[in-house]
Amino acid sequence: MSVDSWINETLYAAWGQRFKVKRELARVQSDFQDIGIFETYTHGRIMLLDGVVQITESDEFVYQEMIAHVPVLGHGAARNVLIIGAGDGGVLRRVLQHGSVERAVMVEIDGEVIRLSKEFLPGIAGDAWHDPRAEVIVGDGIDYVRRAPAAMFDAIIVDSTDPIGVGEVLFTDEFYENAARILTASGVIVNQCGVPAMQADELHDTSIRRARFFPHVGAYVAAVPTYVGGYMTLGFASKAPGFDQVPTDVIRTRAQAAGILGSTQYWTPEIHAGAFNLPPYISKHLPR
Ligand code: SAM
Repeated sequence: MSVDSWINETLYAAWGQRFKVKRELARVQSDFQDIGIFETYTHGRIMLLDGVVQITESDEFVYQEMIAHVPVLGHGAARNVLIIGAGDGGVLRRVLQHGSVERAVMVEIDGEVIRLSKEFLPGIAGDAWHDPRAEVIVGDGIDYVRRAPAAMFDAIIVDSTDPIGVGEVLFTDEFYENAARILTASGVIVNQCGVPAMQADELHDTSIRRARFFPHVGAYVAAVPTYVGGYMTLGFASKAPGFDQVPTDVIRTRAQAAGILGSTQYWTPEIHAGAFNLPPYISKHLPR
């Protein structure tokens, strides 16, 4: 790619963001998607899959902290965690920051995303790939949850692409039914559910599906600058009540014990508790 080119995100047909790029670092058509990694002037290195921004070095901490620390600290005693997608390794790194986590299984369908993230975005995962508690599997998340034994995990974190293409299976009844089966009685699942200002169906439709298999369903928000359109939502479903009502001081105590407090740039106990307070334009998409 020539110097000082621009790349346009293609997520929305009639609206989007663009980045001025210094150079293209990688462009691979894998068996699953078009993978592009670029050096930008404003956001460090960024990765796009099929033209959609997945991660930027400048603001990945927002999303990774919220999709990882909220379920682990909200659960309170998560020992076995399943991560689906998250090929850049950022969620794995943050889940493994929690000493309570004994095992983190990460199932990513595209080995090329892992390979290219290791080569061009090494800071995202850090040393997580070498953590003895980590098990990294290249495979389809739907296949993994079909085969996994019952009550195997305390938390499932689905850091997938949107429900188009390979990501679509991770937003289905079959997926949530198996997720409910392989979670413990206090288990919780968290899914990236898009930006409701532009993708309201993603939160609405998947919340209705989660409600078929879990008694408690909701969402929380994170303000990720490069997920354009305002708040990004993370849908959750839990078997036990109270996941979204853990008092701030309890969250703080848990974070202190985990050594997380003070190590984050977006997540705090107050942000954690406050993220479940949804503006009406978002809460209206959740099942009553
Ligand atoms: N944080 C980003 C976001 O919210 O858009 C997503 C990060 S990560 C790059 C998304 C990953 O989900 C991709 O690496 C993609 O290959 C993976 N993925 C999509 N469908 C999958 C499936 N069925 N099983 C496992 N991984 C999948």
